[in-house]
Amino acid sequence: MNLSQKSAKKSSADLDVAGIKKDFPILATKMNGKPLVYLDSAATSQKPIQVISAITKYYREYNANIHRGVYKISEMATEAYTDSKRKLANFIGANSIEEIVYVRNTTEAINLVALSWGDANVQKGDHILISEMEHHSNIVPWQILAKKKGAVLDYIKLDKDKAGLSEKSIAEQLEKRPAIVAITHVSNVLGSINDVKDLTKKAKKVGALVLVDGAQSAPHMPVNVKDIGCDFFALSGHKMLAPTGIGALYGKKDVLNSMPPLFGGGDMIKSVEFYSYTPNDLPWKFEAGTSNIEGGIGLGAAIDYLNSVGMSKIREHEKRLTLYGLEKLSKIKNVELFGYQKKGIEKRGGVISFSIKGIHPHDVAAVFDSYGIAIRAGHHCAMPLVKGIFKEGALSRISFYLYNEEKDVDAAVEAIYAVKKIFKVR
Ligand code: PLP
Repeated sequence: MNLSQKSAKKSSADLDVAGIKKDFPILATKMNGKPLVYLDSAATSQKPIQVISAITKYYREYNANIHRGVYKISEMATEAYTDSKRKLANFIGANSIEEIVYVRNTTEAINLVALSWGDANVQKGDHILISEMEHHSNIVPWQILAKKKGAVLDYIKLDKDKAGLSEKSIAEQLEKRPAIVAITHVSNVLGSINDVKDLTKKAKKVGALVLVDGAQSAPHMPVNVKDIGCDFFALSGHKMLAPTGIGALYGKKDVLNSMPPLFGGGDMIKSVEFYSYTPNDLPWKFEAGTSNIEGGIGLGAAIDYLNSVGMSKIREHEKRLTLYGLEKLSKIKNVELFGYQKKGIEKRGGVISFSIKGIHPHDVAAVFDSYGIAIRAGHHCAMPLVKGIFKEGALSRISFYLYNEEKDVDAAVEAIYAVKKIFKVR
């Protein structure tokens, strides 16, 4: 199926959301008897028919293992898998596919760096710098590494508005000359967009390597790893229209070359003797065993789709929706909002976390569910952050993508009023 030209857009300013929605079969279904309103794309995105069809086509027409078969359909599968890496390299501005390692998700990408680069380079007493804004997947791997090596884990503090990172804290922490700085590009709780380019520049001055957690940025805005200057960039396919089980670690070629392989097995070797092996070239050195071939092919189709719409347009669209959401939600009594507000919209992605006074987010989400609206509730896999900004340690969250529109926000607002009525909150 061709990428829908209709999805690309009506005018130069707005996405053709009605056309885009037609590409997502699940958005025409019902949940609890109500048309599904999907406001949980920060957790995972829905999949367009173009991605579903690309995967089906692979299984129906050229299913075979890659890199091994000397026959047509294996060559076709190898080419499709490799081509998806070319697409991803272009999508994030990497130099070549040598810098694109496929993994399961952002979590695995960060763990790969901690376990391979970290194990080889971090010494007792070294500092590892992250921030108070991180997802658990950018905290726990560093805790494990620090414990194993006797290294020190430090945190960049939130600023006084509890929206961005404190510049003072950045400066103080960098004075300790950390070995690595690992930082989220966009917070999955606050929506805050960190200036990772500036932070990378500062970190480089003190000799640190920089890892950017791009789980919430790559799907939603133009990203260029060379412009950022980071050494590593991690992303998850499932958050950017691709299937689950496929993600990527971008690494600068010289840095990846310097790292030992993490897993041993087929595909990651050039040759094997009884007592030794020669590792394969990049990126295959880090991809042991049979790859997630359908995932790679699906990710390639997802990137085609995102490119056909345009990442700048997606960013602008989500910005408008977020402004609209902040405007509407800020007017509701006893609803508290977090992160940058309307004035800070340039520093905010399409995520709005909120709390309704005295009501547990799980109760909020259950009422939303009865209205056919899918939202997230709880600690959002960022317990230290959520506890730091809200003492109950749990929040409700709506998050947007290219297929959302203002009427989805209106549905959420209506559901908030319903929650307040049910729980008798004024
Ligand atoms: N980092 C951030 C900022 C996230 O929002 C998420 C997932 O929500 C992750 C990392 C982990 O992503 P995954 O579960 O796909 O590994």
